[in-house]
Amino acid sequence: MRNEEIAPHVEDIARVLKDKIDSEDIEKELRQYLTEYRIPLGTAKQMLVKKYGGTPSELGLGVSKTIEQLAPNESSVDLLCRLIAVNHKEVDVGGEKKPIVYGILGDQTASVSFTAWEVSDWQFQKGDVIRVHNAYTKEWKGQPQINFGERTTIKLEPKDALPKFVAPSFSNPKSFEVKDLRGGISNVSLTARVLFVESRTVNVGGEEKKVFSGVMADKTGKVQFSAWHDFKMKEGMVIRIEGGYVKTWRGIPQFSFDERAKVEVLEKDELPPLKELAEREVHSIEELMERGGAIDVDVEGIIIDVRCGSGLIFRCPECKRVLQKGVCRIHGEVEGKADLRIKAVLDDGTGALTAVMGREITEKLLGKDVDECRKMAKDAMDHSVIEDELKKLLIATPIRITGDATSDDFGIMLISKDAQLMSIDVQAEAQAMLEKLEG
Ligand SMILES: [Zn+2]
Repeated sequence: MRNEEIAPHVEDIARVLKDKIDSEDIEKELRQYLTEYRIPLGTAKQMLVKKYGGTPSELGLGVSKTIEQLAPNESSVDLLCRLIAVNHKEVDVGGEKKPIVYGILGDQTASVSFTAWEVSDWQFQKGDVIRVHNAYTKEWKGQPQINFGERTTIKLEPKDALPKFVAPSFSNPKSFEVKDLRGGISNVSLTARVLFVESRTVNVGGEEKKVFSGVMADKTGKVQFSAWHDFKMKEGMVIRIEGGYVKTWRGIPQFSFDERAKVEVLEKDELPPLKELAEREVHSIEELMERGGAIDVDVEGIIIDVRCGSGLIFRCPECKRVLQKGVCRIHGEVEGKADLRIKAVLDDGTGALTAVMGREITEKLLGKDVDECRKMAKDAMDHSVIEDELKKLLIATPIRITGDATSDDFGIMLISKDAQLMSIDVQAEAQAMLEKLEG
């Protein structure tokens, strides 16, 4: 990022931190977040403000995005967009009637629904091109939804400030490989093998619908899919789907298609066999960030931090929330149920992610079960002995973790299904290489 691009954001952060921190230091740290840790600008700014005790919501300068680039739960977004639909209604807020405006926004990339909560000086109509500053997004059924709040400002722009919105057509689908599927793209052509498929009935707007979901794969990776029509798919089939679309669902891109799509069954040998495609490969964290999440992947790297809150924890028996000093946020003082977990930062040289590991993996890595950990903590009269032991064991240790990589504003989280410590036995590696060379 060039100096003149970063300077206004540095100023923005300095203002929120009331000039407690030197601008030069802010810039240095911001650049580190952006280039070394590859954190998106909006998130990096918030993290910096939080780190120095400021209030991230006071940041004024948003990050301009296209609708396609939006993710759920972004706190400061700038947009140039067209109002495609505008509706007024009243909602009940704490017993009082409050007018709001809702509808659909579009730009050259996609459309999205929006809600404006402060509409006393709303003056915009369908067809208007507006520049929105400081909006925020929430998640609604797996899709980002735009909100205009108290801090949001909206400015009318000339109608030709934005190219006309063209609804996606299914006439010329573009071919993608699984690794290139991103939330928000449509009219996708994909050739993949069905690894498994199951059907269930869901209720969509009061109507019973059958949905066929599962996992499909090509040579580049696996993806979850949902088909809203019975295409008679079977496990192992190689199919080409034309006219599918990709949504981000729980932080992972998901491939969807319905009766408008064209589905063709191909020869079985068009793709590698089921067993080969079902195998997991090691993916770089950079790739997972770029893809915005992926299912069933392996990541190899070094653990650089074990986060606070790892080790022995106690959960509320009612809602499973982690207790703070024996107190549940919802149910008050309760008899906690002991559990183990690890929240670790994994770095593979291309980026870093947070890996979350549950009890089974923690027990396996520690070589102790939860009861033994309880006893250790009791003897030491300190619960943090387990966290300390995990730190000693894991920090600077190479590890291979399997799981689902989900993405949000704060980066990638790997919901782990298994983990294996790796020994970096240099001698053994050298020996293996030698043997290979000697054939
Ligand atoms: Zn509770």
